[in-house]
Amino acid sequence: MNTSVSRKTKVCLRPSPWDILVAALVLALAAALALFFLSRAAGSTEGDLVCTVSQNGRILEEITLTAGSPDQEKRYGDYVVEINHGHIRIKSAPCVGQDCVHTGWIHRSGQSVVCLPGRFVVTLSSPAPADPPFDIVVK
Ligand SMILES: [Zn+2]
Repeated sequence: MNTSVSRKTKVCLRPSPWDILVAALVLALAAALALFFLSRAAGSTEGDLVCTVSQNGRILEEITLTAGSPDQEKRYGDYVVEINHGHIRIKSAPCVGQDCVHTGWIHRSGQSVVCLPGRFVVTLSSPAPADPPFDIVVK
């Protein structure tokens, strides 16, 4: 009784020229994507940012932060916002928990400091309105 499996079926493990071409294409695409996102990321940290200061949903001020922006402190009622080398923070606040003060410095688009008790928000955003706050949309 012969139960041995036929050994004639050989799996070809050597890549064909097509496989190499596809692999090269995938690698090139990955490199292009990586460069795209890296350059975008670099742009969002070093480019101009818009700092929006708002309270109760009302915009108090919009400050454009550039590389040459002067360091300054701005007072909004009981809140003091400090700007230093493109970084921004709530320096002092009247709230009890001081969570917003403890949040510390923000410097990237999309970051924000929120004081819930006072409904006081400092948000950093990219000045380009077409720039979505997400990288990839999966449908
Ligand atoms: Zn607070």
